[in-house]
Amino acid sequence: TVRVRIAPSPTGNLHIGTARTAVFNWLFARHHGGKFILRIEDTDLERSRPEYTENILQGLRWLGLNWDEGPFFQSQRLDLYKQAVQQLLDRGLAYRCYTTPEELEALREAQKARGEAPRYDNRHRNLTPEQRAAFEAEGRSSVIRFKIEDHREIVWNDLVRGKMSWQGSDLGGDMVIARASEEGSGQPLYNFVVVVDDIDMQITHVIRGEDHIANTAKQILLYEALGAKIPEFAHSPLILNKEGRKLSKRDGVTSISDFQQMGFTAEGLVNYMTLLGWSPPDSTQEIFTLEAAAKEFSFERVNKAGAKFDWDKLDWLNSQYIHNTPVDKLTDLLIPYWEAAGYKFDGGRTRPWLEQLVALISQSLTRLVDAVAMSQVFFSDTVEFSDEAKTQLKQEGSAAVLEGVVTALENQPQLSEESAQDIIKQVVKEQKVKKGLVMRSLRAALTGDVHGPDLIQSWLLLNQIGLDRPRLNRAIT
Ligand code: GLU
Repeated sequence: TVRVRIAPSPTGNLHIGTARTAVFNWLFARHHGGKFILRIEDTDLERSRPEYTENILQGLRWLGLNWDEGPFFQSQRLDLYKQAVQQLLDRGLAYRCYTTPEELEALREAQKARGEAPRYDNRHRNLTPEQRAAFEAEGRSSVIRFKIEDHREIVWNDLVRGKMSWQGSDLGGDMVIARASEEGSGQPLYNFVVVVDDIDMQITHVIRGEDHIANTAKQILLYEALGAKIPEFAHSPLILNKEGRKLSKRDGVTSISDFQQMGFTAEGLVNYMTLLGWSPPDSTQEIFTLEAAAKEFSFERVNKAGAKFDWDKLDWLNSQYIHNTPVDKLTDLLIPYWEAAGYKFDGGRTRPWLEQLVALISQSLTRLVDAVAMSQVFFSDTVEFSDEAKTQLKQEGSAAVLEGVVTALENQPQLSEESAQDIIKQVVKEQKVKKGLVMRSLRAALTGDVHGPDLIQSWLLLNQIGLDRPRLNRAIT
């Protein structure tokens, strides 16, 4: 059966690139009825933080990318890696290298001067026991290097990119698989532990970003050395910004929690990420759930070229999801944004009132966070008048119209849609003015603006929390 994994490093919040890789893994696993495994690559103890792990788990859950096994933590599996290092040492496939940082630096400088690419010259590959003892006596520390033969050809059939071919000599010389460490057995490094884990977890398909292609070449040699079956590889295209460069912090956001704060829905964001490099067989279809995409998913429809990040498209997709979310659920989604803005649910702002407000503004929302600005006037006791609203309130007849409304309201303890319409009609008739004047003046007085959502509904909401009369009175004086 298919077994795939996502292996984030907790050295930062869940990154959009990692999340998109997780989406492709998830889709592939679900398409084949396989398993999706979560492994936290926290071997870099200095840079790994528990709060990043928490952010990663939360982000994956929020996006609906549920995993079947894990999370596994590499920091709890060190014995396994040490055994594997020892195995390679015992079999003469790896060796201790005592080259000092200064010697490596001198080597790089010399190579640079000759116009050569930097690579380790394998100088400690065949040390005699006496030489080794001498280095140890000097007090030098060692790293473990894995032998890479220059003439080796490394070929694999990438599920996205087709035939890939590397030469051993392209890989920078014998590779370090474990760094020196206090207790002497060494701190195993990414390229090595990832292979040990993928073997141990019986991963059948390694699906990850294109930036790992050179690692794949090295890792294939390690699979061979460890006597394991080599999995299939699929390298997904990078996510690019508008200028065609790799999406980075400078482009505004990089983590899933940032997107969440910016007001994207999980469904809209995950739908958009699915389209970053993949398209369904019916490419006119753009809105689908993860489950629907999983039915169709294959690497044949994953592009080789980088995927441009398109904010307009993400916004459009997100708005579609918001507009189709039932009011009850949308209210739940909006409450945290209102709370974050400091809005209070008091003074008659009950759940039914909130839902009425949501129904009023939902179709104008692109991002959930837009609800904060759009409903500000319903949460604050005072209202700020825009210049246009001020002009409107100074128009001839405006004050009289509003006075008429206030008087009519006195006989209306509770406003209904019908009675609100009746009041407007009555004022139009009594004062012989156009309905437009009444509507515009009312809107300016009640909301401080000349645009906005449905006026009658807005008025009803303000009436329910007792804010319409004070605002009308204030506009008149
Ligand atoms: N920890 C690596 C990363 O976050 C995992 C890469 C892989 O999937 O092998 O990039």
